[in-house]
Amino acid sequence: MQRGVWPLPSERNAPIPIARPYLTEREYALVREVLDSGQLAEGATVRAFEERFGEVQGLPFVVATSNGTTALHAALLAVGVRPGDKVLTTPFTFIATANAILFCGARPVFADVSLDTANLDPRAVEEALRADPGIRYLLVVHLYGLPAPMGELMALAERYGVTVVEDCAQAHLASIDGKPVGSFGRAAAFSFYATKNLTTGEGGCVATTDPEVAERARLVTHHGQTGHYFHEVLGYNYRMTNIAAAIGLGQLERLEEMTEARRANAAFYDQALAGHSLGLPATLPGYRHVYHQYTLRVPGPDGQRRERLAAHLKEEGIGVGIHYPRPLTQQPSLAGRFDVAGGGEVPVADELSSQVLSIPVHPLVGPEDRQRVAEAVLRWEAEDLD
Ligand SMILES: *Cc1c(COP(=O)(O)O)cnc(C)c1O
Repeated sequence: MQRGVWPLPSERNAPIPIARPYLTEREYALVREVLDSGQLAEGATVRAFEERFGEVQGLPFVVATSNGTTALHAALLAVGVRPGDKVLTTPFTFIATANAILFCGARPVFADVSLDTANLDPRAVEEALRADPGIRYLLVVHLYGLPAPMGELMALAERYGVTVVEDCAQAHLASIDGKPVGSFGRAAAFSFYATKNLTTGEGGCVATTDPEVAERARLVTHHGQTGHYFHEVLGYNYRMTNIAAAIGLGQLERLEEMTEARRANAAFYDQALAGHSLGLPATLPGYRHVYHQYTLRVPGPDGQRRERLAAHLKEEGIGVGIHYPRPLTQQPSLAGRFDVAGGGEVPVADELSSQVLSIPVHPLVGPEDRQRVAEAVLRWEAEDLD
């Protein structure tokens, strides 16, 4: 079998999935080495992965974890989030962002996002911080791989004395003016889930420029253990396995190349879909967007037009995704557990939820695939008359 080649040359009209892990012989070889070594749980391979990820991402201290959610939980604990604290964040994200706050016994406070970027709106953040001096933390998400406006957000954080944590689960190698995401706040969490820009199957890490934060993250992810069966603080088993780390080491050798493949696919869509009725991802000077998702906005009442485009693409064998169909303010599991800044409404997050549609942008989408995707979108656009 030829690994990592997609689609196979004979499958010209093969389905184009919305996500697919890009694995090569290198990952297979590294995993085999771990299996042969007999040391499957955390060990030298995890240490090597932490060191290498830190070099590539530009963050000196890395603590590998079992997934991105446990990384977020550990990052929040490591910067000092405690029961009763309030953590300002976005309602337009994956649920793990808010769950990690709740796992600390803290309370999410949601501020609205910007329509053009889907990231936190600095004006909404400022309003929230001014209205409630009890907010001590800000959890920023770099949604779809587009960095949030960290210049403005960090200035606000300084002015109001809040500690910033970055959810970089979708944003490996994203940066602003060359400064990597994860290096703005006190701590950052990354995810290496199967569909993320770099995968270990399941996996994640806390990354930071602060050695003390790293030390605390190391403790809480390792049962609070400081000596042989000696446990100084309450901790968890949030460790990564050597098997997962081996996959990650293989992936790291190609992360830059895989990121550029995503960016090339996105640049193609930017050109091909410009000048039509669909909203395209923001391209901001100095911002390196890494396109975990390439997400269109399909304007129209109640999301009906979005549903029609999604159905059309599925019929053509093109995978689509809705990230996300409802803001966290409307998730039953969170009911009664959060506050909403600025009058209790997040109208922009509501609007985005009814409009967003992601199309395939991952590294295994080749030039013919992206051509097919763009043509299918434009054919639908020309024929959809409502
Ligand atoms: C994927 C993701 C997470 C959680 O990561 P897991 O590895 O799935 O636990 C957290 N936040 C965001 C924004 C994500 O996309």
